[in-house]
Amino acid sequence: MALERFARYIYDCTRCGFCRVWGWEGVEHVCPTYPHTTAWDTEYARGRVRLARAVLEKELDVTPDMLEHIYECTLCGNCEVHCPIELPLVDIFHALREELAGGGCQLQTHEQITFFIERYDNPYGPKPDEEVVPEYARKETAEVLFFPGCTNTRMAPEEVEAVAELFQGLGLDFAIFDDDTCCGFPLYEIGQMEGFRRAAARTMERIRRRQPKIIVASCPACYRALKELYQQDEELRHDFEVQHLSEFLLPRVPGRLKPLVEKVTWHDPCVLGRHQGIYEEPREVLRQVPGLELVEMESHHENSLCCGAGGGVFFSRQDVAVKTVESRLEQALATRARYLVTSCPNCYVRFRQSIRKGRRPIRPASLATLINEVLKHGTDTDASSGD
Ligand code: SF4
Ligand code: SF4
Repeated sequence: MALERFARYIYDCTRCGFCRVWGWEGVEHVCPTYPHTTAWDTEYARGRVRLARAVLEKELDVTPDMLEHIYECTLCGNCEVHCPIELPLVDIFHALREELAGGGCQLQTHEQITFFIERYDNPYGPKPDEEVVPEYARKETAEVLFFPGCTNTRMAPEEVEAVAELFQGLGLDFAIFDDDTCCGFPLYEIGQMEGFRRAAARTMERIRRRQPKIIVASCPACYRALKELYQQDEELRHDFEVQHLSEFLLPRVPGRLKPLVEKVTWHDPCVLGRHQGIYEEPREVLRQVPGLELVEMESHHENSLCCGAGGGVFFSRQDVAVKTVESRLEQALATRARYLVTSCPNCYVRFRQSIRKGRRPIRPASLATLINEVLKHGTDTDASSGD
């Protein structure tokens, strides 16, 4: 039973409530989704831990409402950072999902991505006719393999093009994985572990054929799947080096970038920052751009505020996701930065949507697209249109 591993921690919860609102200066809301829910106790960490306990003790049958509350969580990990007794809350919530999904308990809204990944290896459905990866980056083997992942390929194809141009501009021998398959992380997040393993095995087989030495991912979910989750499974284990795009670029860009005299703010994606401790590498890459002024939002590093899309929330509760991204956007706008930069397609797509809809005076950019721009031309573009 997945939850049994965490029983000790589940019983340790003191029900203090610091996982909802911390109340200290700069940390008003710990749980990013809670203010946008119906505010039941089970809609933030304390109540979810209690639900986990009830499931562990087989004390209740999970109703559709409870299931909804369990899956309103983005697994962002902010509650874990603020829990005074340091409970491993993300692991507990993931185990709870694993427990329920393993027993056939699934949100209806997640059925489609489960089906699409099984059928097409991609949560967004069948592969479109148009090829996203440029021809020069499609190779059978290469030392450096960029793995774009499903969300970049389908929702932000400009990322794939930017990485291709960037790597070419850096003079690398590289290929971009062009099989349109997902790393399986969306299934991992919703607790569908068998489906995750099957999807990951299919993707690993295709990666192995390319014989890379280094795999680079700009999507934190792909990065975590390849670097950490696959290594925990005998069938998926590999000996490729896995790097996040920011780690990969850091030693390669100093002295090669043209000026960008603009204020820029960096959004820490939860899976990159809190889950994997990568905070400084992307900031350091940005600091390599002459003239660029890096400013922090009110919440940053381990206190960063989630964009609202993680944990499957984007697929199941778009209303919550949309309101949550607005809170983060307010923080970005308060810095008066011209660019809101991140390196997660989920965060980027949410910001882009919200900025365009509200015609906000900030430009969303991914690390790859921004660095590609300054590697090529340097720019003093007008960001006021927000697109
Ligand atoms: S902060 Fe930690 S101990 Fe306190 S209620 Fe939340 S999960 Fe329980
Ligand atoms: S992981 Fe994030 S969304 Fe989930 S309960 Fe904790 S703070 Fe809230």
